[in-house]
Amino acid sequence: MYEASAADPRPTRPIPVRGKRPPCRAVDGARGATGIPYALAAGCLGCWGGDGTDQPDAVQQAAVSDAGMDVASAPDADGAKDAADPFGATERFWIDAGVATANKDGQASLLSFQVPAGTTSVEITFDGPAATLLTLAELSGPDGRIVVPKTWLAESKSPYRCTVACPNRIAAGPGSAAFLVPNTPAASAGGGAWTLRAFAFSAQAPGTPLAVDATLTVGVHAVRRPDVATRKGRIDLNLCMSGAFGIGADIALQHARIQDALSEVRTLFAGARIEIGAVRVFDTVVPSMIVQHGLGADAEIGDALAAIGEVPEGVNILFVQRIFAVTEAGAVPVLGVAGGIPGPVRPGGGRRSGVVIGLELGAGQPDVLGRTLAHEIAHWLGLFHTTEAPPASGIGAHDAIPDTGDDDVSNLMHWSPAAGSGKLTLQQTNVLHGHPLVGAGSP
Ligand SMILES: [Zn+2]
Repeated sequence: MYEASAADPRPTRPIPVRGKRPPCRAVDGARGATGIPYALAAGCLGCWGGDGTDQPDAVQQAAVSDAGMDVASAPDADGAKDAADPFGATERFWIDAGVATANKDGQASLLSFQVPAGTTSVEITFDGPAATLLTLAELSGPDGRIVVPKTWLAESKSPYRCTVACPNRIAAGPGSAAFLVPNTPAASAGGGAWTLRAFAFSAQAPGTPLAVDATLTVGVHAVRRPDVATRKGRIDLNLCMSGAFGIGADIALQHARIQDALSEVRTLFAGARIEIGAVRVFDTVVPSMIVQHGLGADAEIGDALAAIGEVPEGVNILFVQRIFAVTEAGAVPVLGVAGGIPGPVRPGGGRRSGVVIGLELGAGQPDVLGRTLAHEIAHWLGLFHTTEAPPASGIGAHDAIPDTGDDDVSNLMHWSPAAGSGKLTLQQTNVLHGHPLVGAGSP
C-alpha cells in the first residue's frame, strides 16, 4: 500500500511563512449553486470522512492498528504564568495529571487532578501505545458532578464512543485521545477536583474489541473563556502539502483551488466568531499519497499526520491525493479525516494532531474542499456530527446540542455535505471556543 516505507524518517521541510494573511482570492460563492447534488457516489459511507465517529460501527470497531509508540507528555508552551493568574495571556493552563496504568481488564485506577478556579472548559488528553484505543471509563467534575457515567461501558455495545449515556459525548482514540468538556450545554466545567478512570482496548479482532493493559500519560488543558457567548476567537492553520496534484508549499497559497477553499473556511468560521489568523505552508513527505482509513488500517492516518513533524502550534491540515475507507461494502471515498473529536493539542505535532484531506475528485463529484476543510477542523475542535449517517433503516443519531436541527443538511456538521451547507449554531460556536487552540481574536 505504501509507496515508501512507513518507517522512512524523512522530515517535514518547512518553508518560510508567507505572511500572516495570504492574499486569498475572493470566494466565488458559486459552489452551492452549481446545480450538482452534493453527494458522492451512491453507497458512500461517511462522505465527510471517518474521523473517529464518522464511520459506521463496522469501520470504527476496527479502526486502529498503529505501530510503534506515540507518547507526548510534554507540557505545551503556554508562556509564563503567575500565581495570581495561572491561565496567563493564553487563557489556558496545562496540567500534567500523571500516569495511569490499565490492568488486563483495560481499567486503570482512579486518577484525580485539580483545575484552577475560573476554568470554563477542559480538554483531557491520553497518550499511550499507538496500537491501543484509549477512552474514558468514567469522569466526574467538581462537586462530584458526573460527566461520563461509570456504568456506560458495561451497558454499551461498543466502547468506541459514548453517545446516549453521555450527553457530553466522548470518542475513543488510537494511541492518543482527547475529550472536551463541555461539548453540549448539558455539561459544564469548573475549578476544583476532577476524577477520571481510563479504559484501554484493542481492535485487533474486528467487532470484538479486547480490553488490554496499557500505560498512558494524562494531561489536561484547563481553559478559561468566561465570555464564550460573545468571544471572538482565532485559529492559525498549518497547510502541509504532500505534493499531491503537484501542489507544493511553494505554490499552495497561489493555487486557485486552495485559495477558494481557504476563503470558504474564513467565511464559515467567521460565522462562529473565529478568524483565521496565520496560514503557514510546509512541504511534508508522507508515506503515501493514498491513505487508507478503517478496518485496522488507521495506522495510515496516524503515519500521515506524524509525517508533519514539528510545526508551530495551529491546526495542522495535511493534503494528500486520496483517502478511502474499507468497509464491509468495499472501499469508499472519504473527503477528510480528523485526528480526533476533539484533537489533542500537541507541541511538535503527533499522530492525532491535525486533519487529513483528500484532494482527488471523482467523476462528476462536486468540489467541496472548503467545506470539507471547515468540517474536519470543527471536528478537531470538538464538534460531533449534528446527525450521523443513517443506519440501514431509520435515521442517524442526533447530537446533544439542542439548537441544531434534526437532520438539518444546512449545518456544517451534518454527516454529509449538501448544497449551501455551512451553518454553525450558537451552541456549536460555544463548543468551538472552549477548545484550547482557539485563541483570542482581533477586538
Ligand atoms: Zn464528519
